[in-house]
Amino acid sequence: MRYSGISRSILDAIGDTPLLEIDGVFAKLEFMNPSGSIKARIAWYMVEKAEQQGLLKTGGTIVEATSGNTGNALSMVAAVKGYRMLVVMPEGLSNERVAISRAYGAEVRFVGHFHVNGALDEARRLGEQPGYFAPRQFESEFNVEENREILGPEILAQLQGRVPDALVMGVGTGGTLIGVGQAFRAVNPGVRLFAMEPSESQTILCGEISTHHIEGISDGFVPGIFARHSELVDATLSVSSEEAIAEMRRLARGHGLLCGPSSGAHLVAARRVREQHPDFATVVTLFCDEGEKYLQDHFSRPGEDVVGSAFN
Ligand code: PMP
Repeated sequence: MRYSGISRSILDAIGDTPLLEIDGVFAKLEFMNPSGSIKARIAWYMVEKAEQQGLLKTGGTIVEATSGNTGNALSMVAAVKGYRMLVVMPEGLSNERVAISRAYGAEVRFVGHFHVNGALDEARRLGEQPGYFAPRQFESEFNVEENREILGPEILAQLQGRVPDALVMGVGTGGTLIGVGQAFRAVNPGVRLFAMEPSESQTILCGEISTHHIEGISDGFVPGIFARHSELVDATLSVSSEEAIAEMRRLARGHGLLCGPSSGAHLVAARRVREQHPDFATVVTLFCDEGEKYLQDHFSRPGEDVVGSAFN
């Protein structure tokens, strides 16, 4: 039994998510984390490290630029630990993301539209003020470290001796791809790391920056973490927003998995890797956030089908 004793807070429920075999690949069900996404892990980790290093003290304010999930996760962590939380994010993302951070008691400030670049500058500026701490997820080695030291080993343990042949992951900060990738490399130096990008905005492959509907990845720039560790990555591959959303809907209807568009895109990409490399027995990907905050935008109402509001 996972919860055999008494928990001290919701933060004790972060991690230990299931690893699901689906369509011949392995998907880590990260949407089951508290606050609904993989970002609960790094939010908790970056705050713990800041406390240990004296960067964050009682009465302090956490300020972070985010396209949504990290803001929600940090807002949850701040609520538990009693910090003030200021989320700086672009307009044009789903309203639910904003509402969730506010529900956890955070203040939300809007800078820019859709891409997170402008919000980054503002959060950096605020983070330098006394009493403020900016985790800076796009740069932070603590982001990579959590993925390498906790999430990666957790997946390896669940694989029960199977050796990963490939990891397929979209790049928001790049922390998951790089950190989990490093953990996988330690057991299989030949493991292939695939960075997935929206077909409409292939920033890593060719510097293209455009709007897309796979929220949480391809935020409009190559993040520092990815740039620093890009030699670890073997290839990029792209999935269109339309494919991602169609797959996301299939996950809900066909498998009872209510996740966001990046999960759909990850599954499409992971299956493609498996098809292109029939010798890869163990292809791993992650379903990063839950689907409730996309109901309004992307899930069709009863009677409607195929392609929803995002493409009309
Ligand atoms: N999918 C979703 C839904 C996300 O929120 C994120 C993180 N922004 C990612 C994928 C990518 O994760 P990472 O930041 O580790 O690259």
